[in-house]
Amino acid sequence: MTDDSATVIATYSRRMRVKLADGHEVEARIKGKRLQPVCGDRVFAEPIANEGDWLITEIAPRDNELTRPDTRGRAEVLAANLDCLIVVAAAQPTPDWYIIDRYLCAAELIGAAAIVVFNKADIETDETASSVELDNYLRIGYDALRCSAVDGTGIDEIAALLRGRCAIVVGQSGVGKSSIINRLIDDAQQRVATISDKTLEGRHTTVNSVMIPLPHGGSVIDSPGVRDYAPALQSSGEAANGFREIAEAAQQCRFANCRHLREPGCHVKSCVDSGSISERRYASYKRIVNLTEQLSDGRY
Ligand code: GDP
Ligand code: ZN
Repeated sequence: MTDDSATVIATYSRRMRVKLADGHEVEARIKGKRLQPVCGDRVFAEPIANEGDWLITEIAPRDNELTRPDTRGRAEVLAANLDCLIVVAAAQPTPDWYIIDRYLCAAELIGAAAIVVFNKADIETDETASSVELDNYLRIGYDALRCSAVDGTGIDEIAALLRGRCAIVVGQSGVGKSSIINRLIDDAQQRVATISDKTLEGRHTTVNSVMIPLPHGGSVIDSPGVRDYAPALQSSGEAANGFREIAEAAQQCRFANCRHLREPGCHVKSCVDSGSISERRYASYKRIVNLTEQLSDGRY
């Protein structure tokens, strides 16, 4: 017997929890050293004779992967097959919209959808600044909404957007990512998830990442590595593709290789001047281009 549509739902270094096609969950080891499954991976697995464990023998091709550079500068895969990034900002700590744009850029480049969520609406005293940004995200085609993990505002809306999708929650520390995840999971399920995590954590090392099923469908991958994730770009040229309104305007630039900085006939720049592209988004774009160029100069 083999199961060719199993999904990795939790990882503990080289041990995995796998959900089989029939919904059954088993623990699994990995065949060989070369295979490196991550949460969200679809895998081929087979039971090991006379053992409770299963063996992961192969990883199915990934739709996409979330990566970050490891300490040696190589790409480390954090999660695979994501439909959606939930990018969280909040009334407190003071929102850093540049970080939000970095996450949105990453989502765009891996072909995942993104939802901008502005949490702690219950303590927001002045909505003017966040409204400008949320309205702009809506205008360029993202789902964007206010929520509160404390009073429940917007939580049903997020749950509805996640139905049938596998998502991860990203954003600065303290914005309320864990609180939102807890709010999305109903109490019964939350208890089960906590208990099974504890059992496994006691037996193996620490949990690296876990996929939590949501009561109204869909799932959320939670992982410490993912929480402080910052996207790495291969080249500055990629950055424009991560900003959908810039990528669209770029089609009308005079030069095909326009970087939208100081080139003549740059349509992106004229859209910024006329206000149809937000100055602030354009500033994020330039910052990402500069950062990527510094990194590719080998200065990190
Ligand atoms: P994380 O670091 O992004 O996972 O953030 P946490 O979920 O740990 O939340 C950080 C702090 O913000 C905690 O003290 C939470 O109680 C608080 N918090 C989270 N969501 C809300 C919210 O919607 N409103 C308010 N007022 N506080 C919140
Ligand atoms: Zn241009």
